[in-house]
Amino acid sequence: MAKTAIITGGSRGIGKALSLKLGELGYNVVINYRSPSSKEKSEAVAKELEEKYHVETLIVKADVSIYEECENLVKATIERFGDKIDVLVNNAGITNNCNWIDIKKEAYEKVIATNLMSFMHMSHLVLPYMVNHSDKDHQCVIVNTSSVGGMTGVINQADYCAAKSGVIGLSRALALEYAKKGIRVNVIAPGMIMTDMLRGVNQDELHALAATIPEGYIGDVEDIAGALEYILKAPYLTGQVISPNGGFVLQ
Ligand code: NAP
Repeated sequence: MAKTAIITGGSRGIGKALSLKLGELGYNVVINYRSPSSKEKSEAVAKELEEKYHVETLIVKADVSIYEECENLVKATIERFGDKIDVLVNNAGITNNCNWIDIKKEAYEKVIATNLMSFMHMSHLVLPYMVNHSDKDHQCVIVNTSSVGGMTGVINQADYCAAKSGVIGLSRALALEYAKKGIRVNVIAPGMIMTDMLRGVNQDELHALAATIPEGYIGDVEDIAGALEYILKAPYLTGQVISPNGGFVLQ
């Protein structure tokens, strides 16, 4: 029987590459999006998944920073695919780019709500289903997207770094708490990957930063999809941070 995976923010950027990887690995994919402009992108990803990998898809609009909308996302998943949720990929994320004196309270609260609280909401809602059908031979997996910002500091990204560090702590604790139940929780902490998130920042600063990457270039979404595949196929891996970053954190 096909397995079910939920991905938050699965219509574009890294999320799109992860959605397609899940399909390639044979999962039915629940693609979450939030912005009206991402509805068509979600439909295009779903079409590609169905045509290329012959898996089933479900598209669910939800702002995952809001607990009740996460409840709707999980409910819709169960109505469509049943209550055996095998994989949860928490990927949704936003950034501010502001120094800590000038940033508005509402702006940093939104970053924490989107980049950390949504991961807590989704794992809180999905784990009860995972514990019901996972064991050593049939593992369930949660994959959380952090960032090199969660491993180091980044100027003008204090809220983002706080959220992304929090994701690592959350993941390690949940990995310990549910290891005996056959549930693995791991983190992907990307370095700089070319998506809309990076296209939105000052390009001069970006190129200067890219020049400091030991491998010398900005990564591709496929680097992150490869990390997801590795995690899903690694039964002895839990509570770990996999960071495709071109050597960024070595300096
Ligand atoms: P992106 O292209 O800007 O995409 C962000 C995704 O998050 C979109 O699918 C967006 O959905 C979704 N999203 C944002 N807020 C949401 C909410 N409240 N509810 C549901 N979905 C929401 O960014 P990306 O580069 O692919 O980033 C994906 C993840 O990787 C993020 O967690 C990011 O922090 C992390 N990351 C990225 C980089 C990088 O260099 N690109 C580096 C390290 C970590 P809509 O389109 O529907 O708004």
